[in-house]
Amino acid sequence: MRQKIVAGNWKMNTTLQEAQKLTAEVLGMAGEANSNIKIILCPPFPYLQTVKNQLGGSGIDVGAQNCNEHQSGAYTGEVSAQMLKSMEIPYVIIGHSERRQYFHEDGKLLAQKVDGALANNLKPIFCCGEPLDIREAGEHEELVKSQVEESLFHLNAEAMKKIVIAYEPVWAIGTGKTATTAQAQEMHEVIRKHLASKFGNDTANQIPILYGGSVKPDNAKELFACPDVDGGLVGGASLKSRDFVDIIKSA
Ligand code: PEP
Repeated sequence: MRQKIVAGNWKMNTTLQEAQKLTAEVLGMAGEANSNIKIILCPPFPYLQTVKNQLGGSGIDVGAQNCNEHQSGAYTGEVSAQMLKSMEIPYVIIGHSERRQYFHEDGKLLAQKVDGALANNLKPIFCCGEPLDIREAGEHEELVKSQVEESLFHLNAEAMKKIVIAYEPVWAIGTGKTATTAQAQEMHEVIRKHLASKFGNDTANQIPILYGGSVKPDNAKELFACPDVDGGLVGGASLKSRDFVDIIKSA
């Protein structure tokens, strides 16, 4: 059985006080959800330690939203995987489409970030997904396969087993447009088969592939019911504790 995961990506949202309130609310309601589901909260960097402390021994994990590819050095304003390791942060999102789009992160750089994260015992939540024009041109499968190849195919199977993949069609992120269950399942299957072609079925079948893109309480259940969808990476709805916990309950 693959691990079911629901991760909340808070992006550059919340004040410290709002982050504490949101964490307390999720913590208060998390008991409503199946305890086999791994819940991960990804607050902005400055609140990681506070949120981590608040979550204590609850079993809910924290994740960072990014890390720099270098271990340390003169990179003002950046945060390294080594720093996250020293804080015992278990997960880090790598390659979110907003980082690809606004910070021009490409597959080669993301491969370095993946390596840095793994070297520091962090589990990367590696994001891939196509923009609207690529989907409309019918080139989405090829693009997503190439994103996975560029940043993950240099790994060996053991390292690959530590990766969580999030398929996030860019046209569905923050737009209110969600992929249909058929579109989501189709792409998750394409990704899993592609992983199998490189790492073998055993490895591919162990890797959680999350769906992201306007997941809401009213669409989560059918998306998460797809055989190759192992949970979700949730943006906007993760900022509302009731919605986020309802999404977790759908997994
Ligand atoms: C995301 O940013 O990873 C995301 C899926 O956002 P939203 O749920 O708001 O579409």
